[in-house]
Amino acid sequence: MSENEKRESLNFIEQMIEDDLASGKNSFVQTRFPPEPNGYLHIGHAKSIVLNFGLAEKYNGKCNLRFDDTNPEKESTEYVNAIIEDIKWLGYDYGEKALFTSDYFDTLYEYAIKLIKKGKAYVDHQSAEEISAGKTNPTIPGIESPYRNNSVEQNLEEFEKMRAGEYAEGSCVLRAKIDMTSPNMHMRDPIIYRIKKVAHHRTGDKWCIYPNYDFAHGQSDSIENVTYSLCTLEFRDHKPLYDWLIDELEIFPSKQTEFARLNLSYTIVSKRKLLQLVNEGHVAGWDDPRMPTISALRRRGFTPDSLKKFAHKVGVARRDGITDVALLEHSVREDLNKKANRVFGIQNPLKVVITNWPEDKEEIMQAVNNPEDETAGTRDMPFTRELYIEQDDFLENPPSPRKWFRLGPDREVRLKYGYIVKCTGFKKADDGTIEEIYCEYDPDTKSGQDTSGKKVKGTLGWVSAKHAVEAEIRLYDRLFKTENLNTIDDDFINHLNPDSLTIVPNALVEPSLKDAKAGGQFQFERQGYFIVDKESTDDKLVFNRTVTLRDNWSKK
Ligand code: ATP
Ligand code: MG
Repeated sequence: MSENEKRESLNFIEQMIEDDLASGKNSFVQTRFPPEPNGYLHIGHAKSIVLNFGLAEKYNGKCNLRFDDTNPEKESTEYVNAIIEDIKWLGYDYGEKALFTSDYFDTLYEYAIKLIKKGKAYVDHQSAEEISAGKTNPTIPGIESPYRNNSVEQNLEEFEKMRAGEYAEGSCVLRAKIDMTSPNMHMRDPIIYRIKKVAHHRTGDKWCIYPNYDFAHGQSDSIENVTYSLCTLEFRDHKPLYDWLIDELEIFPSKQTEFARLNLSYTIVSKRKLLQLVNEGHVAGWDDPRMPTISALRRRGFTPDSLKKFAHKVGVARRDGITDVALLEHSVREDLNKKANRVFGIQNPLKVVITNWPEDKEEIMQAVNNPEDETAGTRDMPFTRELYIEQDDFLENPPSPRKWFRLGPDREVRLKYGYIVKCTGFKKADDGTIEEIYCEYDPDTKSGQDTSGKKVKGTLGWVSAKHAVEAEIRLYDRLFKTENLNTIDDDFINHLNPDSLTIVPNALVEPSLKDAKAGGQFQFERQGYFIVDKESTDDKLVFNRTVTLRDNWSKK
């Protein structure tokens, strides 16, 4: 690869980093992933995790996990723990321990005092409405607060009173004194501290004032010597404030760079809305396999590699777009194709009696575990007189043999790893449904030892009736029926797909799955990829369908 090609293959953030390292502008790569512990991580966060941890790995740097915990009323230790579990599961190392913005509350408080002493911050006793009205709009200059020119001494005294809890919540705030005429509204004396008489999940009642996002975020980056602070595009307008605070405080010059957030078709990526789905009972919880949270994707059967591969395929862009959720499904299909053993699972069983097979005879067939992986070996499949196949694999009046390769009266198919069988009859129930079908097998056609010279086009999955294991199968479809949920005008709840979950209560799976453990992943031949759910019991296996074998949504 030429130097030029090499550069072209990098994304814009990698290009920036390589330029900085080459010019000596930076000598190391320190990134961070800064979730607010107010919900579970979703697939959008996975993109940010892969980006931040991935860059640290690539450039021999470090990535911190820092909880941005400055809104105590929305945050909890449950969320902290769930986020840690997700990051570990993805396989990333955030060093010795997770970091918390709340660990810096003392330092941040000192920083605020430093600003006040420089005459760059003041306590404002206006109401929230007055402050907001005073900012006016970007086209006309804002109105200065009557408290703006109070003395440094007075501000120090009042800020101390704020900290000591002597003022009521909402009665005053600390504002940075920047520029009330700036066209950037974030520079019109932004609020940097507010009173919240709320206990914090880590600092308890120690504080009743908490820094705002803008005051905490960049300063925490700086405390941690973060060289590349990567955030999503909506923070672009915050950048001048980010830089102003670091300049005024004369602290480590972290730099913010924005990239496009991940938007996925048919999917909501906003913790607030996901919380609403959980609270209103539209899903069974944060890890309901239909949710786009990392914990739900894990339960659904997505692998760390599939999410990483997906994130790399999406790449980083400077402008917002929407990614097709089919790409995510493709990534897991590709990964599981290599890793998952093949098995037979029958969702809607139809009994087949092999009339020329002796009552008690059992023959053990050898089934290939994974044609993509020779080392996966084979397993035993007992073949007996009574078997089950999929109801869909038999038609009483099938179309011509050129169009229908499966079973019908007088038609022949191969039972995979077993024999070729011919349908000789069937029995109907009073309501017209097919109760069972009858076949004869050809003893010369045993898989691997076929001497018959027969050619059949259809190969079906099956399980021995006597050995089959009962299972519940949960089939998932997209949680929303609308492709682009960013452009809707009405409530997103209206766009839920009513058919996102189908439960198949009485499926049968092959006996090798009898002792399958939660988390075990398999390809059910011809159907899709499945994972054993945590709700499985010794009496009943429960499988979640991760994804079908092929994308059958695009056809709909
Ligand atoms: P949400 O709106 O879902 O709450 P957020 O941005 O408020 O998302 P944070 O916990 O504050 O969530 O985000 C942690 C990090 O993850 C931030 O750096 C943020 O930019 C990034 N992030 C969040 N959502 C996405 C997304 N859809 N695509 C890429 N990065 C994201
Ligand atoms: Mg947020």
